[in-house]
Amino acid sequence: MTTNVILLGPPGAGKGTQAKTLSERTSLTHVASGDLFRAALREGTELGMLAKAYMDRGELVPNEVVIGMILERIAQPDCASGVIFDGFPRTREQAVALESSLAKQNSTIAAVLYLRVPNEVLLRRIAGRQTCKTCGATYNIYYFPSHRPGICDACGGRLYQRSDDSMETAQHRLDVYFEQTMPLIEYYQRQGNLFEIDGQQEISWVTDAMLKALGKYLVTSAQPKE
Ligand code: ADP
Ligand code: ADP
Ligand code: ZN
Repeated sequence: MTTNVILLGPPGAGKGTQAKTLSERTSLTHVASGDLFRAALREGTELGMLAKAYMDRGELVPNEVVIGMILERIAQPDCASGVIFDGFPRTREQAVALESSLAKQNSTIAAVLYLRVPNEVLLRRIAGRQTCKTCGATYNIYYFPSHRPGICDACGGRLYQRSDDSMETAQHRLDVYFEQTMPLIEYYQRQGNLFEIDGQQEISWVTDAMLKALGKYLVTSAQPKE
């Protein structure tokens, strides 16, 4: 039985930041739907082109497209030891599809970590977000700047701002979250495996809280894996 974990929370809550660290400190593989779409777009695939139209408007990509992409991803060998889902599921239909697919492999969702962050903080987090092109590390010009502007502390790569992180699109993405994704909080609460985490705390505090919540499901190492 593998351990699968979902990071649930609004855009800007810190899902990507935390998933990256958790995947380095555990045997879980980080699977981020948004990252997969952005990679597909860079590669110029049909999937990438299709997703871009929705992402630019801050709308959700249609369920069947996302579900197909994620199920294909988690069938790969590196996901056999367990997955951290980041940005998926975002609708009830996606949650149900994930569950039934995992059930066929005798697997389940061990825990859902819900990152709670107040709205006014989210907009600044999104508008200030910078991501490393090379290693995917995330910075924030307001809260968590890199030491040298535009350059990644970890690897020296160039930082970029996502085109859907403008104030206007960010606000719409938050509206979409409240309407389509928030209901999942109650959905998982009813299943009894939801842990609420205060996402307004410092990054390392949040990581520790997550590792603690996952304690009984995980074998962790203090050192990042190679
Ligand atoms: P998500 O994947 O949920 O959209 P990210 O992990 O990309 O969120 O984080 C959004 C922005 O907020 C990034 O700029 C990141 O550096 C910053 N951030 C993440 N966690 C925290 C935190 N606990 N405190 C302050 N800023 C944070
Ligand atoms: P964030 O968590 O910061 O909002 P993501 O990188 O997770 O950003 O998502 C960026 C965009 O990719 C979303 O606004 C949406 O258009 C698309 N997307 C990502 N994941 C999903 C999903 N599970 N369902 C539908 N669309 C998605
Ligand atoms: Zn980097």
